[in-house]
Amino acid sequence: MKVYAFHCGGDQADLAINDPFDEHVGTKQYSPYFFYMVEHPRGRLLFDTGLHPQIRTDFAARMGGAAGAFPIEMREDGDVVGQLGQLGLRAGDVDAVVLSHLHFDHAGGLELVRHAPVYVQATELRTARNPPPYQADLYMPADFEHDLDWRLLDGDHDLFGDGTVRIVATPGHSPGHQSLVVTFAERAPLVLLGDAAYSLEKMRQRRLPAIVWSPDAMVESWERIERIERDTGAELRCTHEADYSGVPISPSAYWS
Ligand SMILES: [Zn+2]
Repeated sequence: MKVYAFHCGGDQADLAINDPFDEHVGTKQYSPYFFYMVEHPRGRLLFDTGLHPQIRTDFAARMGGAAGAFPIEMREDGDVVGQLGQLGLRAGDVDAVVLSHLHFDHAGGLELVRHAPVYVQATELRTARNPPPYQADLYMPADFEHDLDWRLLDGDHDLFGDGTVRIVATPGHSPGHQSLVVTFAERAPLVLLGDAAYSLEKMRQRRLPAIVWSPDAMVESWERIERIERDTGAELRCTHEADYSGVPISPSAYWS
């Protein structure tokens, strides 16, 4: 089992995104955007798909009215095809896609892997198609309204039936948010949190970020994630954690 971390890009976001009551609100920091690939003996799956390549080539057209709100820097080759290419793979080599949720910085590459089954919570797809006003800029129909092979879930799911790659429901940031728990033969499990938290430190302090669908659901998900951590000694990784120095970044490194 191998897990690759693809560094897609990032943004210079105000600390208020992580915590509106942070004492240093008004300070900007770089927040990375990651997506991941799990190589299981029976197939390759993407956990999230990063940004659409048009974010790099024609930012204003892709983002529309939301362009001003997100100062995004997308890396060259930061998209699905570019990142897979660095490993000598093509989009067609992906066997399945799991989406933490359908915000544009996670679902942007869906169009590039239309052949693959897409595992998402049913409630997340419903929300993406009819978002609450304060999240409307985060869900972009151009990302997910394609002829996709949706596999709609209602809660947890064991992807290969062997317990090694498990989707766990972690609602809060959005109604259908889900995280991925990967188990290895010779090391502690890895929990890819997606946006279940932006920062582990803030999660530990129970300080809510700026974008929350349900505070109660988010804190319940944090308790669930910490239970998994306590029970298994798992390593936890947030997609946008500002300190990503410990992340093995593809193509030169991976978790195994
Ligand atoms: Zn999000």
